[in-house]
Amino acid sequence: MSELALVCSLTGERYSPDLPIWRSPAGGLLDLAGLPRPDPGAWRSRAPGVWRYREVLPIREDRSIVTLGESATPLVPFEYAGRCVALKLDSLLPTGSYKDRGATVLISKVRELGIRRVVEDSSGNAGASIAGYCARAAIECDIFCPQSASGAKLRQITAFGARLQQVGGSREQVAAAAIRAAESTYYASHCWNPFFFHGTKTLAYEVAEQRQGRLPDAIVLPVGNGALLLGAYIGFRELAEAGLIDHLPRLVGVQAANCAPLSAITRPVRPTLAEGIAVATPIRAAQILEAIRATQGAIVSVAEHEIVSALRAALTQGLLIEPTSAAAIAALGAEATAFADVIVVITGNGLKTLDQAEKALTGRPSDGAPAATSAEARES
Ligand SMILES: *Cc1c(COP(=O)(O)O)cnc(C)c1O
Repeated sequence: MSELALVCSLTGERYSPDLPIWRSPAGGLLDLAGLPRPDPGAWRSRAPGVWRYREVLPIREDRSIVTLGESATPLVPFEYAGRCVALKLDSLLPTGSYKDRGATVLISKVRELGIRRVVEDSSGNAGASIAGYCARAAIECDIFCPQSASGAKLRQITAFGARLQQVGGSREQVAAAAIRAAESTYYASHCWNPFFFHGTKTLAYEVAEQRQGRLPDAIVLPVGNGALLLGAYIGFRELAEAGLIDHLPRLVGVQAANCAPLSAITRPVRPTLAEGIAVATPIRAAQILEAIRATQGAIVSVAEHEIVSALRAALTQGLLIEPTSAAAIAALGAEATAFADVIVVITGNGLKTLDQAEKALTGRPSDGAPAATSAEARES
């Protein structure tokens, strides 16, 4: 078994995981290699949740762990478009989104590196999650966000005591400001930092255990920067390489048609109700498309009115979810998800987006294209 290492996606060069770097010296994305094999025998002695899979989480010492008690999230049956699927409620994680899977591992690594101050750029759930875990670990945290950002997620970030740094200009300019600040601190990025992805991979471990190895045909999830989709892919691959599962479920990434950078058809970016996946230029786009290809999955784009219908359906079945998560449900209308056994990941808690939901459910959704038809899908 090779040593744990950070590997540059451009040069293949390896670096020690104890270096406080989030990007390679060549400017490439870093990924982790050399993780230990999963050990199902060890899981049974541990409580359900992210840290149940302790041996495959890249943290050396137990005393470094920063946890808010992430539980295993339930699978609940749900009816939509004449079908019965299972929803995996990651909306129930401690700060209200799936991002906690990544943040608990990333901020544990930050503590292990002895870093006292981090920066992140997100006015949404990633910012709220990083802010929460930093509060837990008494690590200083600056969150960079656009001047236009508002709402419950921003209030959650400040409530956790993180400093907000509002930056004028585009989303790219906000990220650039965070990267500049990271020169003297550390970039706890949910897009760049590979430790985040080794937390989100626990979704795969949990699904495999909950299903006792009988995996679904497809897992449908919203995709923006791809931390959840790529995490799931890493997790299922680790399980397959250890012989614990015999195939990878298809991964179906759902984006809003109004902001669909992963589609073959490029359209101008417009505002979308699915704010969590309003990402115009995902830096790991090539990796996302590779995960889709390798699992025979698909990218599906859904129209705004379809997101609203899915949100309404969730509410009428007692589930208060984010519009971004409703986008994944909306994809059940697409051919690319038409399998017998499907899990849809509910990524965010609707308590943070009640304002947007109220407006959408009472007003008229604004689709970009006039004839926004049913979900358009691409096998790639
Ligand atoms: C961040 C987020 C997503 C998208 O996750 P990515 O890792 O950016 O693909 C989906 N849903 C919600 C609620 C989110 O907060």
